[in-house]
Amino acid sequence: MQIKRVGVIGGGQLAWMMAPPAQALGIELVIQTPSFDDPAVAIAADTVIAPIDDADATKELARRCDLITFENEFVDLAALFPLAASGVCFRPRLEALSPLLDKYHQRCYLEKLGIPQPEFALPSSPKHIKFPVVLKTRRHGYDGQGTFIIKDSETLQQKLATLHKLSEVLLEEFIPFERELAVMAARSIDGNVMTFPIVETQQENQVCRRAIAPAAISSTVAQEIEAIARTLMTSLQAVGVFGIELFLTQDQKVLVNEIAPRTHNSGHFTIDACVTSQFEQHLRAICDLPLGSSALTCGGAVMVNLLGYEYAQDEYIEKRAQISQVPHARVHWYGKHESRPGRKLGHVTVLIDQFHPEAAQAIAQKIESLWYPQLNK
Ligand code: ADP
Repeated sequence: MQIKRVGVIGGGQLAWMMAPPAQALGIELVIQTPSFDDPAVAIAADTVIAPIDDADATKELARRCDLITFENEFVDLAALFPLAASGVCFRPRLEALSPLLDKYHQRCYLEKLGIPQPEFALPSSPKHIKFPVVLKTRRHGYDGQGTFIIKDSETLQQKLATLHKLSEVLLEEFIPFERELAVMAARSIDGNVMTFPIVETQQENQVCRRAIAPAAISSTVAQEIEAIARTLMTSLQAVGVFGIELFLTQDQKVLVNEIAPRTHNSGHFTIDACVTSQFEQHLRAICDLPLGSSALTCGGAVMVNLLGYEYAQDEYIEKRAQISQVPHARVHWYGKHESRPGRKLGHVTVLIDQFHPEAAQAIAQKIESLWYPQLNK
């Protein structure tokens, strides 16, 4: 069947960035999102204004499109299963999301597959994890909200005492990583798995600030990560693009941090720097079109997130113009109506001819000094 209309649950920047490839592929997007102000409303052929986890709204969305995909995983999965049973097509299918939406279930799933990851436990279980530990909310965490690094048992007890329910969190071994890496992986309906170039991601206060492609890693590490991606995508029978975040330790061990069942911030560089972007690849996979090449079209790229640093209603037109002056910089502005500290307002990708990690870092610093007033003094 030729897919003409794709329903997307979630109307943030990830859905917004699907618009150009959707148009090129002759596909219309229908969006389910809570507010008319959300970025993707502007590019949608049709919109269902409703919370992401409103399954009745998703039923309405299904009436208006050929299949449904996700840009946001904070859905009520149990309420979607009856829709799938009644013939609504979800890609990826709901079973591929089931083991991932709860961080504890995700860890258990990775353990079953024998994929290396941090030690983990529920606070109620006797398993001992050495301090510092990382306490995470099991659901609805994003941009490090719901992730706390805890240095000793007293602080842990205090933190646990503030929680509504102990069952909402899990504990993880703190990994003193050398670097954080990420890979975007795509899988087609017929089981073809493709990975994009592996990136180094840099987080501050647990929020992604930059992604540098390609990551300066050995071919052994790269092969290991590609094998992990393949195993995961195949065992989930995933269809579409998934993001996999990883830790690389000093002794070059790779551990999986997290899997996102959708396109991901660490893959934004692919829009400007790869033959096929993660967004086009996702649409290709879910619409049963052949996957495109994921190769870089340049020596490398630096992606810098433009995070809000104040409460304001400002388009930051002058700053965006200044950043656009940086050679080979492409600014992507999500059109959000309000800025608040830490909010992702846009990103910049700078293409590099000949890749050197130090030069990439210097470019990121340059962009950030133009964007953040506190770095500009
Ligand atoms: P979110 O789902 O909110 O993005 P993550 O679980 O990805 O949260 O954590 C955000 C960041 O916190 C990671 O990118 C990493 O920098 C840090 N972090 C998370 N888990 C660990 C861990 N086990 N050890 C060390 N750092 C961690």
